[in-house]
Amino acid sequence: MPIALALIGALLGALVPPVAYRLSVPYGEPARSACAACGTPLRWRPGRCPACHARLGPPVWLTALLGAVTFGTLTWALGPVPVLPAFLVVAALGVLLGAIDVACHRLPDPLVALGVGLAIPLLGLAGPHLLVRAGLGALTMAGGYLLLALLPGANLGFGDVKLAGLLGLLLGWLGWPAVLLGALLPHLLNGPVVLVLLLSHRVRRDTALPLGPALLAGAWLAVVAIGLSSRYLR
Ligand SMILES: [Zn+2]
Repeated sequence: MPIALALIGALLGALVPPVAYRLSVPYGEPARSACAACGTPLRWRPGRCPACHARLGPPVWLTALLGAVTFGTLTWALGPVPVLPAFLVVAALGVLLGAIDVACHRLPDPLVALGVGLAIPLLGLAGPHLLVRAGLGALTMAGGYLLLALLPGANLGFGDVKLAGLLGLLLGWLGWPAVLLGALLPHLLNGPVVLVLLLSHRVRRDTALPLGPALLAGAWLAVVAIGLSSRYLR
């Protein structure tokens, strides 16, 4: 089953680049409908612009790989449980959100709202009695990141706060250890990445880096770790 779900994840991941390219625009601007380099109308398939060969969105191998790895590991760690679809839906959206955040430092509200709108009923179907804890997890994660965002010189925005809320729903559904791990891991992950980028002169000290991918990766690792521990250590 993890292999089959990994293949579905790869397929969904492969659909991400053209969507991410259209949505990777500055705040308030409409989605792109043409190649930013030459104006050729976009088509709904991954790859380069047919006219000027500019790459349209992230490499398809990368998003397909991320889809396969997240779908495969989440299915492996959680097992064939009723709540699995909630986690896979948010994982697929997460690949898209991460790609957009890397491209233009934005986590579009409609996509995060879509994640919340899909996650709440899917979590509720799988375990209605856990929805209160899921809601508290969302408030804890969003509240924690809101405090960080309000600190002077903060390197995170309100998009990150809202994404933390969405991830907090899923982590809270799993339990408080998952919320704690999911809140801490992004910072542990981001530290070494920033250090490598600084040492290789890919970024400067004052470069604003997107936090979304670290939030998503931290939540993913937290779910896998908690899922595995509850399955195999009990
Ligand atoms: Zn072009």
